This record gives sequence, structure tokens and C-alpha cells, in this order.
Amino acid sequence: MTHSAGRPYKLADAMAEPYSGPLPKPTPETRPFWDAAKQHRLVIQACDDCGTRFFYPRPLCPACLSRRVRWIDASGRAVLHTYVINQRPPRGFSVQGPFVIGIVELEEGPRMMSHIVGVTPDPKALRCDLPLEVTFEELSADITLPKFKPRAGA
Ligand SMILES: [Zn+2]
Repeated sequence: MTHSAGRPYKLADAMAEPYSGPLPKPTPETRPFWDAAKQHRLVIQACDDCGTRFFYPRPLCPACLSRRVRWIDASGRAVLHTYVINQRPPRGFSVQGPFVIGIVELEEGPRMMSHIVGVTPDPKALRCDLPLEVTFEELSADITLPKFKPRAGA
């Protein structure tokens, strides 16, 4: 976003700034995950031979090496397995202030790393096994990022 000369810069402008940090680059393996996220669906893979459900995306089942793997919709429900509170963003990211990166354990079993949002970045507010649910943030026309927030009513 550019600012016209003479117009005072307001905080609201910064808030409305479109996301300008690095974006994930979908690969043939991860493309179905990003396509689903764009539709606000969280998907993981499942093996048709042994039933293992897994994430991150792979062409082979990590348990039995079968190639008979497919994508399934996850419920979006998870619990907080562990987390870190980052005081500063990684180089190139414009995130302000402390933010929470967690490893969440999905109801279906796999764990994934994700931003934890909608909660104060304070250990007092972040207990392990905190019930979470997925939420989606559109970063660009192509990339929507699943994040997790405390589950409603939990
Ligand atoms: Zn398998």
C-alpha cells in the first residue's frame, strides 16, 4: 500500500495493509492441501491399506509404504500439544508483537505446526491439551493458511 503525499499515516492503514510476508509455495504433494484450505477445509491424508492418517503430505503411507493414499476432510478439532511464544517475527515477516506457534494434535491423530490465534500470548492462557478448532486466514489469492483458536465453549 502506498500513501499519498501529505496524508497523515494512521494506525488503521497499517491494520488494513495486505499481507506482504513470505508465502508457502504449493508443490504437487501439497497442492490438494492448499486447494482445500482455500475452500476453508482442513484435509489430511489417509492410507487405504492400513488406515493410518497422516500429515505432512506424502506420496507414500509413512506406516506401511503403500501408495494407496487419499485426502480426507479433518474435523478441524484439535488440542494444543505444545507451543512456543515468539517475541519477534522471523526475518521477512511483518507480524507485530509476541505470537504463538503451536504443535496441535488433530482429533484424527496427526500433529501439525500452526499459529495459535485468539488467545493472549501468555503461558497463563495456554495450557497443554487446550481444545482448539481450525480457523482460516486468507494471505493471498492463492494461499489461505489454517490456524487454530480456542474451541468455542471449551
Ligand atoms: Zn498404510
